[in-house]
Order: sequence, then C-alpha cells, then structure tokens
Amino acid sequence: MEDDLETQVCMLQSHMDGMIERAQKNEDMLKRFQDLEMRLLSLNSLRELIEHIHDDAKLVFNLESLSLVLADEDDAIRQFLTEDGFRFDEYPSVLLLSDVSLFKSKLGLSQRILLGDAANMLPKEFWPTGKVVPETVAIIPLLRRGVYLGCMVFGSENGVRFQADMATYFLDRLGKVLSVCMENTLNYEQLRRSSLFDTLTGVNNRRFFEQRIDEEILRSLRTGDNLTCLFVDIDFFKKVNDNFGHQVGDTALRHVAELLRSQLRSNDILARYGGEEFVAILPTASEKKGVEVAERMRAAVANSALEMPEEKRLELTVSIGVSTFVVDQPGVSKKIDRSVLIEVADKALYLAKNSGRNLVLSGGEIVAEPVSEQQSA
Ligand code: GH3
Ligand code: MG
Ligand code: MG
Repeated sequence: MEDDLETQVCMLQSHMDGMIERAQKNEDMLKRFQDLEMRLLSLNSLRELIEHIHDDAKLVFNLESLSLVLADEDDAIRQFLTEDGFRFDEYPSVLLLSDVSLFKSKLGLSQRILLGDAANMLPKEFWPTGKVVPETVAIIPLLRRGVYLGCMVFGSENGVRFQADMATYFLDRLGKVLSVCMENTLNYEQLRRSSLFDTLTGVNNRRFFEQRIDEEILRSLRTGDNLTCLFVDIDFFKKVNDNFGHQVGDTALRHVAELLRSQLRSNDILARYGGEEFVAILPTASEKKGVEVAERMRAAVANSALEMPEEKRLELTVSIGVSTFVVDQPGVSKKIDRSVLIEVADKALYLAKNSGRNLVLSGGEIVAEPVSEQQSA
C-alpha cells in the first residue's frame, strides 16, 4: 500500500517535472520569438529584413535549412537588393521568382501553412538548386491584403518534425509579421527611389533636375536673369570600375559629387543625371560666371585624389560642358525646351572629351527669342 503511494507520488513528480520543463521550453521559445519579431519590426531596408530573417529564423526555430521565395515579377526586388549591395552569392536560398504563376500552380496560393514530407510538398523551384532537400518542410505563405508576396520554407532533416497535424501558432504568427514587414519595406524602398534624391551620392536625382530646370527657365523668362547649366562627366570612369571594382567606383562617385557640391552656392542645384554624369543648374549665372564655377569644379576634382587603403591614391578628372540661357526681354520671350539647354551643354562636353578631357568648354549662349506679335495675340 505504502509502496503504491510512493510509486504514484514518483509518477506525479516526474509528470510535473515534464510539464515544468515543457512550460520552460515554451517560455524560452516565446522569448526568442518575441526578440525576433522586435528585430524584424525595427528594420527598414529590404536587404536588412531579408538577411535577418534568413539568419535568425534558422536559430530561433532550430532549423537545418530554409528558403525564402519572393514574388518578383518586374525584378524590382532584385534591383533594390542589388543597389543596396545584397550578396546573392552569400544567400543562395533567397530565391526571387519572376514567374509568379508558380505560386498558384505549385502551391495553389494556399493561405494555410503546408506541412509534411518534402518529397510530396516541396516544388523544386522553391529550393536552391544543388542544396540537399530536407526530409520534412513547413511552407509558410507570406500574404498581405490578398496579395501573395511569396513564402518561406522551413526545412528539417527530422522525418517527423513538420507533420500535417502539428500546431502552427508560432509559424503562423511569423508569417504574418514578416508579411507586414515585407509590405512596409517594399513601400518604403519604392518611395525612397522615386523621391528626389540619388541614394548613392546623396545629391538630387534626375527627376528633381527635370522639374527644377523647367521652373528655372520660366523664372528667367519672367525676371530676365541668366540661367547656366553645367554638364559634368567623369573621365575614363569605366577604367576605375575595371581596375578597382564597383565598390571603389561607387566611393569615387560620392567623392566627386561632394567636390562638385562644395563649389556651388546653396541655391544652385546639383543632380546626378545618370551613371557618372552630373548636372548643375546655376540660376542667375552668366556664361562667364558659369565657366568660372566649372573651372573651379574641374580643378577641385583634379587636385583631390581619392585616398585608398595602403596609402594608394586614385586620381580622377572631369570634363564639363557649359550652356547659358539669356533673356533680353523679360515677360515677352519665348519659352525654350530644357532639351535645348541640355543639348548645347552636352555638345560642349563632347568637344571637351575630344580635346583631351580634364577640360571646361562652353557651348555659348542661347538667346530667348521674343514672342512675335501674332503669337502674343
Ligand atoms: P569618358 O571619359 O569618355 O567619359 O569615359 P568613361 O569610361 O567615363 O565613359 P563610359 O560611358 O564608357 O563609362 C561610364 C562608366 O560608368 C561605365 C559604368 O559601369 C560606370 N557607372 C555608371 N554608373 C555607375 C555606378 O552607379 N557605380 C559605378 N561604380 N559605376 C558606374
Ligand atoms: Mg558618361
Ligand atoms: Mg565618363
């Protein structure tokens, strides 16, 4: 009798120990999961988000492998990540699917988590080629406002880890949190790029230049002030990339942008026109003044080599073409198209290139014609 009681107490004790251990494990899991959630919510670039989820989810969920498959029909995600320096080669299990119909044909756009044997569940397009396919998988959909953003595949070598009837509270929740984060960062990245700054150099972008030059042309027509435009192109820039790599090329672009900016007044405008080309708008500057400023820019770049590791120095030069819009009769002159100003500066730049580079040349003045009486009527 006493023995019986003792055995029962022992059993109860061990049952309780088991329960406490499980509760502790759950609490640990919850804690790690909450930390992951907080980290994800604090990130604001797509690159960081993808890198974190890739690295952290593996740790938090104790996974052998995972893949992150994102719908990227128009290649926008690939472009954002490339511009941000994301290393696709270091993250082979981040897959961007341009054929988004695969989500429907292979997964049926399932809103539920799919669980089970990889052999039955996992389409080959959702796993990096050449990587060992896991035994069991959980395919977690990433959905936001009815849009299928992609999915995350958790892989395990354990043949019973992911089974159809298992509880999926944490996986469900992670899918939802990640979907919100993905949507937010994608929106943010789009906004960042379509706004008015060039993300690499920090100067204005071409869109901004095009808006502003139109406004400045109208202002000159009204006030009779000159308007000068400088077209700047880095000499032999391709060689910089070829000899030192793209990263140094990018640093050189930032370096030149800074030097150009330092020669301008606060109400002048500097924009990256494209690639290794910049454009400056100098409201009220005459041709002579424009050439002076351009000459200062040229000299600043030629005299400020980029310091590189191991005490190496990268010498850079620029060629600059100048054009100036002159309005003799304010209020009654014809508007010119911005392309005229650009074309004249661009031709001068072309000449400077052909004359040996590291040179400033002016294409001269473009004089606004008065509107004829017929037109003004
Ligand atoms: P030129 O003196 O005639 O202007 O010669 P160039 O080599 O500067 O001109 P080219 O047009 O042949 O090459 C421009 C190079 O600029 C090629 C391109 O790879 C590089 N480039 C354009 N945008 C970027 C960028 O954002 N980063 C880097 N690193 N390179 C860029
Ligand atoms: Mg060029
Ligand atoms: Mg160039």
